[in-house]
Amino acid sequence: SESDIAALTACLSEPSRLITNAQTVQRLSRDFYWYSPILKKQLEDKTADVAIQPISVEEIIAVLTYCHQQEIPVTARGAGTGNYGQAIPLNGGVVLDLIKMDAIEEITPDGVVICQPGVRLGVLEAAAREQGFELRCYPSTVVKASVGGFLGGGSGGIGSIAHGGLRDFQTVRAIEVVTMEATPRVVLHEGTAVHDVMHSWGTNGIITRIWLALTPAVEWAQCVVAFPTFDEAFTFSETIAVPEAWTKRLITTFEWPIPSCFSPIAQVTRDGKSLIFFMIAAAHLEALQTAAVEAGGEITLAAPYTGLRTLPLLSDYTWNHTTLWAIKQDSAFTYLQCGFNPATVRDQFAQLKANFGDEILFHIEWMKTGTGTIIPGSIPLVRYTTEERLNEMIDFCRSIGVSVANPHVNNVEGGGRYREDNVQLQTKYKYDPKGLLNPGKMTTFQRTQSEEPTTA
Ligand code: FAD
Repeated sequence: SESDIAALTACLSEPSRLITNAQTVQRLSRDFYWYSPILKKQLEDKTADVAIQPISVEEIIAVLTYCHQQEIPVTARGAGTGNYGQAIPLNGGVVLDLIKMDAIEEITPDGVVICQPGVRLGVLEAAAREQGFELRCYPSTVVKASVGGFLGGGSGGIGSIAHGGLRDFQTVRAIEVVTMEATPRVVLHEGTAVHDVMHSWGTNGIITRIWLALTPAVEWAQCVVAFPTFDEAFTFSETIAVPEAWTKRLITTFEWPIPSCFSPIAQVTRDGKSLIFFMIAAAHLEALQTAAVEAGGEITLAAPYTGLRTLPLLSDYTWNHTTLWAIKQDSAFTYLQCGFNPATVRDQFAQLKANFGDEILFHIEWMKTGTGTIIPGSIPLVRYTTEERLNEMIDFCRSIGVSVANPHVNNVEGGGRYREDNVQLQTKYKYDPKGLLNPGKMTTFQRTQSEEPTTA
């Protein structure tokens, strides 16, 4: 309403940071949800009423205080690159766009960066490298994605082969959040308590400050190797992925015809051949090439890496960017997120191919788990026909021991990163008792009777 807009504008030092322009509000209410044909249908018409771009914790507290009082939903947003509709408001209200809170406060001598949530990960990586450090892991959307959004909805990516996912190895040291209460509190979560708020899709607090552990910078190189069959490519990638002796940041294995979608880098692909993309220590590049040729591979690229502006930038074709290139070529493609069992992976591949043939195309992202095991993580491409068929594939995967984090559901619990100890839900009861933060995304949350909303 007019009075809500006036009151919310008064929370800001600059009125133009409350946005009512319908087109802009709609853009800020969207993410990459359309990767999923199921979410596309479900979320297409969802939009906030206004967007607010705070620049300080004080402004956030003022906005949340008013929204709590008036029972207005608030959905946090970083860069909106998530692909599960995580940042799409289901019930209108305010999109709280944190991208202007982008200060890097400090990089400590022992390699911890302290920053605000809106810092782009690419900016963070560059700043870290200037101090002799680099990010432990980052999504392939690194240039655009924000650190707050990564904590709120991401999981891992480039670097995860060496350092595990974002939730592993105490990479996130501490998080400061603002609560959604009559009088919002600023609460610091340290150590294991970071998991109370991580990967909660903004449902249990607004992240305002982050302590993120870095790792010493390495001089990297990029390398692409082609193999006649997926089997050979997979086996060679495994021999580099598993031994700790190889210093690496990225190993991605693609079944043909996935590389045929990489039109801007056609020169590194070979018709009919499976490919492996490596980001490997420059000091190991020569040895890698020798090993690849001995194994029957053809080197199609071996070049220095000079930062995120390197061309071609192999990571632009890995993780969920692979899916993007495939959808660009054929909109019938979608994807799954799977974890294969390293001991039985070849049998799991064979069973999937026997049942689904070319409906599933293997795209492996090697990664380290929190216990230090190297596993063939996977974001296979799927040729989508119907929801029933997709669910059949998911059920089949699970029946043969392939874990699936389902990217076609729009809630924290269904997405595969919900914690079994329920700490995210318990935190929501404490910090957002009225259920106003990104409502509908934590489906196990139940508002208590006495706090039932008074308006629809
Ligand atoms: P947003 O999409 O804006 O937000 C993500 C979630 O976090 C939302 O639920 C939002 O409400 C919440 N949130 C945002 N800011 C805050 C805050 N300050 N406080 C509380 N909650 C907040 N992800 C990976 O993990 N690895 C990958 O390799 C990867 N590759 C991708 C490739 C492509 C092509 C695309 C489209 C997506 C990919 N993603 C990947 C998903 C996404 O890009 C990342 O998770 C990214 O880190 C999200 O950051 P963002 O700033 O865009 O977050």
